[in-house]
Amino acid sequence: MTDTNPQKAILVTGSTSGIGQAIAKKFAALGYDVAVNGFEPEADVAAAVADISKGATGQVAYFQADLGAGAAGFDLVNAVIAKFGRLDVLVNNAGVQKVAPIDELPPEDWDRIRAISLDSAFHCIRAALPGMKARKAGRIINISSAHGLRASPFKSAYVATKHGVIGLTKTVALEVAEMGITCNAICPGYVWTPLVERQLNDQAKTHNMSPEDVIRNIMLAPQPTKQFVQPEEIAELSAYLASDWARSITGTSISIDGGWTAK
Ligand code: NAD
Repeated sequence: MTDTNPQKAILVTGSTSGIGQAIAKKFAALGYDVAVNGFEPEADVAAAVADISKGATGQVAYFQADLGAGAAGFDLVNAVIAKFGRLDVLVNNAGVQKVAPIDELPPEDWDRIRAISLDSAFHCIRAALPGMKARKAGRIINISSAHGLRASPFKSAYVATKHGVIGLTKTVALEVAEMGITCNAICPGYVWTPLVERQLNDQAKTHNMSPEDVIRNIMLAPQPTKQFVQPEEIAELSAYLASDWARSITGTSISIDGGWTAK
């Protein structure tokens, strides 16, 4: 198939905040048409969309979808393709966290965490691949976690989900390896975003510690650099993975965790 429209398009799920917002902003600056997604109503995400749009030369459009609801990811990707005419890069980033001992974790939280991160990646990928296969080009980036490679207590649903994301990544990479499409996982350590900020109080309660001690003794304890990763670092790595130079990188998990998983 001849690629007559050189304007590229990206969808970043969960891009109204944190890591996803930084990735969306980076690709907007690179000239992509950018599909921003979150589950909040459009009025509540105006500031995030305005931030992503600074320096954009392509279109920036918001697509509200609750990726925890069934096959919403499939419909989301098709809506993005209907708007932009194509989807070159899919970043499965949406995710939520819940800190609790496994025997106190409400089953609906288990289902919600898995649905938003893992099931939605499946649904988005199955909708994105036909167009990528037709163009013989595409990039899929799944945001896993250091918790896709290591466990921590009280995060059973999150750890299981993020390990699952890595399994999905490897499988997709093998299926499309000869089609110009790559699929990789990024595994961040602790990144200072609203998701981590929200965990502070839960962690403090579960561990019976002050929030300051949680930062020092829990969050940054496994991170040898003793620094939070910044969302922009994940955005730069994503841009590299989307570039032609990364065509031979596929099926792998790239840690950006200050040395956490070196141990
Ligand atoms: P965040 O809370 O700042 O942002 C989460 C995003 O997901 C938001 O845009 C939110 O609207 C969206 N979202 C949540 N539920 C949704 C739903 N049902 N449907 C659609 N969108 C939904 O979180 P973050 O820290 O930027 O995390 C982004 C990703 O990075 C997650 O997958 C997270 O697990 C992963 N991650 C984060 C860290 C960290 O330390 N922050 C570390 C490793 C991995």
